[in-house]
Amino acid sequence: MAESTISTVKKLIHESKYLVVISGSGMQRECGHKSLRDPERAYDIEAEYKYSPEEMFSSAFYNTRIEPFYQFYKKEVLSQDMQPGAAYKAIAQLEKQGIVKTIISREIYGMSQKAGCENVLELHGNIEVNHCPRCGKEYSKEYLLSAKKVPLCEDCMLPIRPGIRFYGEMIDNGIMTKVANEISKADVVLVLGARLDQDFCDHNLAYYTGDKVILLTNREDAGDAKADYAIHGSLNEIVPQLL
Ligand SMILES: [Zn+2]
Repeated sequence: MAESTISTVKKLIHESKYLVVISGSGMQRECGHKSLRDPERAYDIEAEYKYSPEEMFSSAFYNTRIEPFYQFYKKEVLSQDMQPGAAYKAIAQLEKQGIVKTIISREIYGMSQKAGCENVLELHGNIEVNHCPRCGKEYSKEYLLSAKKVPLCEDCMLPIRPGIRFYGEMIDNGIMTKVANEISKADVVLVLGARLDQDFCDHNLAYYTGDKVILLTNREDAGDAKADYAIHGSLNEIVPQLL
């Protein structure tokens, strides 16, 4: 695989019949977001809460220490101001043009939808969609944030379960099936800001039978060799040029 040109990749995208996007953590990084697992951020969080983000962002911690969990979750996750940048908006435009069919994402802030995307498969859930574990009533992010301590269902008085997947939890089977279906239908897969040798891509791409995996990322990586086409650089600069 050699470094590709924008015009080559643009042509492939516009000639595609079924293009699926895999949107990785590099997309959020370009919007200035530091993940909980970012070493610097993880250090600060552990210093403040006495537990690592991995420990707190787990079902075990949620089930046994719900008050400190919500203290952490409200401040470090729900209160983050996450706004989509130019790359997200360009993908939304490509979807409106009928070129992008599906976006597969594992971020939890609903960034693709904020940019205007519609057909998004969220592997790790969405902070905006939360449910009561007993009656299933849905609650917004704002409702969770407005609770003084632990947010409770108005009807059942039970703690509301955040609509996201904790570290180490299984991904919903229904979503995995949809992802597999979309990838197997794709003639072109556009991977944005993700490492091809990591589970997220590796597992999804196992269903792909074509020869047009396009990788756009700002970091060179050993896994890049698995791409058929690659461009390295700022996603907010490259993706809008593909319109
Ligand atoms: Zn309820």
